[in-house]
Amino acid sequence: MRDRKPVGNHSAVPRVLIIGAGIAGMQAALDIAEAGHEVLLVERMPSIGGRMAQLSETFPTLDCAQCILTPRTVEVGHHEQIQLITHAEIESIEGEVGDFRVRIRRRAAYVDWDLCTGCGLCQEKCPGRAPSDFERGTGERAAIYTLSPQAVPNKPIIDPEHCIHFLRDRCGACAKLCPVGAVDFEQQDTILEASCDAIILATGYDIYGLDQMPEYGGGKVPNVIDALAFERLLSSSGPTSGQVQRPSDGRVPDEVVFIQCAGSRDPQKHLSYCSKICCMVAAKQATLYRHRVHDGQAYIFYIDIRAAGKGYDEFTQRAMEDERVVYVRGKVSRLFRDRDRVVVMGADTLTNRQVQIAADLVVVAPALISHPESVRLAEMLNLPTDRHGWLLPLNENVHPVETSRPGVYLAGTGTGPMDIPETVAHASGAASQVLKLFAIGSR
Ligand SMILES: Cc1cc2nc3c(=O)[nH]c(=O)nc-3n(C[C@H](O)[C@H](O)[C@H](O)COP(=O)(O)OP(=O)(O)OC[C@H]3O[C@@H](n4cnc5c(N)ncnc54)[C@H](O)[C@@H]3O)c2cc1C
Repeated sequence: MRDRKPVGNHSAVPRVLIIGAGIAGMQAALDIAEAGHEVLLVERMPSIGGRMAQLSETFPTLDCAQCILTPRTVEVGHHEQIQLITHAEIESIEGEVGDFRVRIRRRAAYVDWDLCTGCGLCQEKCPGRAPSDFERGTGERAAIYTLSPQAVPNKPIIDPEHCIHFLRDRCGACAKLCPVGAVDFEQQDTILEASCDAIILATGYDIYGLDQMPEYGGGKVPNVIDALAFERLLSSSGPTSGQVQRPSDGRVPDEVVFIQCAGSRDPQKHLSYCSKICCMVAAKQATLYRHRVHDGQAYIFYIDIRAAGKGYDEFTQRAMEDERVVYVRGKVSRLFRDRDRVVVMGADTLTNRQVQIAADLVVVAPALISHPESVRLAEMLNLPTDRHGWLLPLNENVHPVETSRPGVYLAGTGTGPMDIPETVAHASGAASQVLKLFAIGSR
């Protein structure tokens, strides 16, 4: 942790607590810090960036996500007015607007981040191995790790469940090799107390699990992955350096099937709402697959195409016409493994015919769901959520970032599915409400 200011001391400059450092939390933090106010930015993961850090390229411009994100993460990490606390959880919040008191549990990293220089030697030599959550199962990581090479802060944590020192009381390679003696197996969680004038919840979204969808193999059929895992296969910083390869055998897939509305728009079996971004995600991923595998064939099963956004419909048309992506209007009824392929069965509702495709790889676009932490924090702050757990603003039409509680605001996908441009605009909206509050308070 970069301890520039004591967390507990609340200076005369108004301070906002922002919970969640995805693109929404970072945008709000930068807007408020640039206006001269103090920001306490708390992130539960070891580094900042949220889901955007896992993306390859972004629709509709196909800009490299990391190239947009990295300057921002670096700016947040270095900003004099932003105090960043990662690998941390909110334990409690009390008080009211102008005087909130918060307890934060900073989880033990087993590495003294003040000493660590981020040289990476410990990660290179660590013999412990675990599937990487960041790579969504498409790659491995060491037991001492950072989420990505571009991590901010660029400091590792030790995962005690996979560290040989914690499991068998031997090894300690990281401690022996660390040139500055930063590894500290005895490190404990620390509790920090802070006060702040306003709070922004920017807790983001989660992904509906493949294990909840037996019709798509329930996560047990090889080479059936979710769209976020496919982002990692497309990403140049991912486990395959951006080569599209099947997780089972590393083979380049000749035929890829994308399944839309997996868990979304299905009130009988799953969730009733539309996840809003998946039509564009599938068009992007099919396009990027074709850019990497020129003679590959992509199929997209869809209910209808919802590509409302500037340049979005044109992007989808280009996927169909320039990249020859075959759109099949219909739902997939089931899929199953057939030797080393996956057979996808569905109905084409335009031709009224049954369709069966033997694919090398299947990419499921699962519903975006509310982050469990949003619900926990909503209960802590006595804020309403809708029946799916999304945070509810005061009024969806005219107060989209305010809440029923004065001084508490919402930013980004904690309120429902959004793409990045909408998330950024929403977060700037939340920041403007905090700045208004601070301006009124200083009169
Ligand atoms: C497969 C896929 C592809 C996509 N591709 C695109 C694309 O090409 N273009 C586009 O515009 N959009 C795309 N999106 C959407 C994009 O990911 C989101 O719009 C964006 O990431 C939302 O940012 P956020 O900050 O609201 O949420 P998140 O990125 O989820 O960030 C929330 C942060 O809050 C943290 N947090 C949660 N609870 C707590 C807590 N209690 N304490 C501290 N921290 C907490 C989380 O760890 C996380 O870091 C894609 C989404 C998916 C799933």
